[in-house]
Amino acid sequence: MRVLAVGGAGYVGSHVVRKLCDGHHHVVVLDNLSTGHAQAVRAASRGAAELIQGDAGDQTLVEDILRSRKIDAVMHFAAASLVGESMQNPSKYWRNNVSCTVELLDAMARAGVDRIVFSSSAAVYGEPRQTPIPEDHLKSPTSTYGMTKLAIEHMLAGYHSAHGIKSISLRYFNAAGADAPGDIGEDHDPETHLIPIVLKTALGLRHRLSIFGTDYPTPDGTCVRDYVHVCDLADAHLAALERLAGQDGASAYNLGNGAGFSVREVLRCAEKIVDRPIAAAEDQRRPGDPAVLVASSKLAQRELGWKPAQASLEHIIASAWAWHSAAPDGYSE
Ligand code: UDP
Repeated sequence: MRVLAVGGAGYVGSHVVRKLCDGHHHVVVLDNLSTGHAQAVRAASRGAAELIQGDAGDQTLVEDILRSRKIDAVMHFAAASLVGESMQNPSKYWRNNVSCTVELLDAMARAGVDRIVFSSSAAVYGEPRQTPIPEDHLKSPTSTYGMTKLAIEHMLAGYHSAHGIKSISLRYFNAAGADAPGDIGEDHDPETHLIPIVLKTALGLRHRLSIFGTDYPTPDGTCVRDYVHVCDLADAHLAALERLAGQDGASAYNLGNGAGFSVREVLRCAEKIVDRPIAAAEDQRRPGDPAVLVASSKLAQRELGWKPAQASLEHIIASAWAWHSAAPDGYSE
């Protein structure tokens, strides 16, 4: 299949690009490189993917790429994704995430491309009323980021009715880890995610980990999250692509392991893997963090045939460690 990976130079996108290339799909990446890395595309695809630097919101450019590269399906990873920043600067999120997706979908409609896999998020649910969270759980996002992801899911339903564009939204829980060789991985600036921060602290690149909140209603008082290996997320994208070939409609699936780990458990597990103590200090709660976020991924298992193959927390952290210790400063470009 000929796939356009929009935002394919980012963390999840580059891991999906690798799987697509390994599966002998033809991959074109469109990325404005505002947060992504050209080197991630080269390394992930081993030079096989074409990288075009440009915006998802440039409808003329996207339509031209879709037509000239004879694209069959789009995967849409491009988004601003910092919950805190989305509260400070909502304009950036509504523009980057929602407005750009309008342009992208209009380009698809004009070019007659009728399949899209969209990177959604557990943030669409907000504070859960039920754990593990099923897909039909109430959607009440507590951040602008979550609202933009939910708005795009609604948008996809509308483009399906009006233009026949079939879609699958994949609601990621906590993406973590790196592909086994450790040559691609997570490289955000600023880094806000727990596992990379813990490992950068172990490498001496950060002073210490701040544990955000120790008075949550959880067994050890710290937040519980469902960490899912980025390569398992990548597998789900390929399964979604396959399903879109036969299925009509606009649907959504949770992607998680169904098991939660607290901040302290992640820290202890990382200390075991790096075999040294990691400095940590208790800190205030981070605004907007729900106490527990754990996915029910039964629907993805049933309908996509997806089963996480790399579910253990030890394995997830060890794979992230292989990347961070090999490239402590991340990508060079
Ligand atoms: N966290 C923390 N210290 C940090 C970063 C994160 O205690 O420096 C906590 C955060 O409050 C949350 C969990 O780790 O409970 C996972 O946060 P992350 O940002 O990795 O993912 P999120 O769940 O927000 O998508």
